[in-house]
Amino acid sequence: MLQQTQVKTVLPYFNRFLQKFPNLKSLSKTDEKTILKLWEGLGYYRRAKNLLSTVKILANNNFKLPDTFKEIKSLPGVGDYTANALLAFIYNKETIAVDGNVKRVFSRILNKKDTEINFENFVKNNKNNLFFNNRNSDFVEALMEFGSIVCKPQQPLCYSCVINKKCKYFQSKKKRKKTKSQTKKLRKINILCYLNKKKQIGLTKKNKVGFLETFVLPKIKKRDKKLDKNWNLLLNYNQSISNKTFNINLYYKFSKKIPKNFEWYKLNDKKEFIPSFTKKILSKVKVLYQ
Ligand code: SF4
Repeated sequence: MLQQTQVKTVLPYFNRFLQKFPNLKSLSKTDEKTILKLWEGLGYYRRAKNLLSTVKILANNNFKLPDTFKEIKSLPGVGDYTANALLAFIYNKETIAVDGNVKRVFSRILNKKDTEINFENFVKNNKNNLFFNNRNSDFVEALMEFGSIVCKPQQPLCYSCVINKKCKYFQSKKKRKKTKSQTKKLRKINILCYLNKKKQIGLTKKNKVGFLETFVLPKIKKRDKKLDKNWNLLLNYNQSISNKTFNINLYYKFSKKIPKNFEWYKLNDKKEFIPSFTKKILSKVKVLYQ
């Protein structure tokens, strides 16, 4: 849940989740619909799907997590970062989960841009310096905390830092410059909502869009073709989802019929899992019924 999401956002979800699934065994017996409903509003729904697939795989191995990088990484949704974090936290292995905080600490110590460092090689080449006791689990946690509390993105606390004598950033007159964060490309899309007099909207899982694939959405089209004149523009707004920002023209039309692969959903239905992206659309078209 914490991937790409802040702790304060995650907490209520996490607590509700643990109440419903207090152990891996109970989680392994649930289905995708239930887990997605609990996850509703937290976004990045692939995490929930991957978690469920992973726990079902682990159920065949008495819920024991593998202890090699290769095996852990083969689990759904587990990349290099998560695999290294799990190996360090659970098995105390000599490995480091390189997140944004850790990258910043290392690149400041070397006084280099993070794009100039191969972090995997850096860890390999400095094994003796990094893993000098058998408390690697604590070390990995501490390194992340150090990056967030001491070697902060802005105004690092260099004067009270315990490693400032060895830090090239602190010692150097010519400080490394930050790597410029990439600006998100704005994607222009049209969203087309079929509505009926019963306060229902036509949604489909068959949109061929890369984000929210397989989730219920209205029709989505790139804004490169003319629409037929029966579509009415309701409003234009921007919305970010995952690492993308969309400029959305929201259109609607009242219709008794919907295309194949669409189903009618009540605008006020609370039982079905509806991703936040779609929920926002539903809240906007509701004004048409006032
Ligand atoms: S001296 Fe400053 S820049 Fe260097 S590691 Fe410490 S806090 Fe970070």
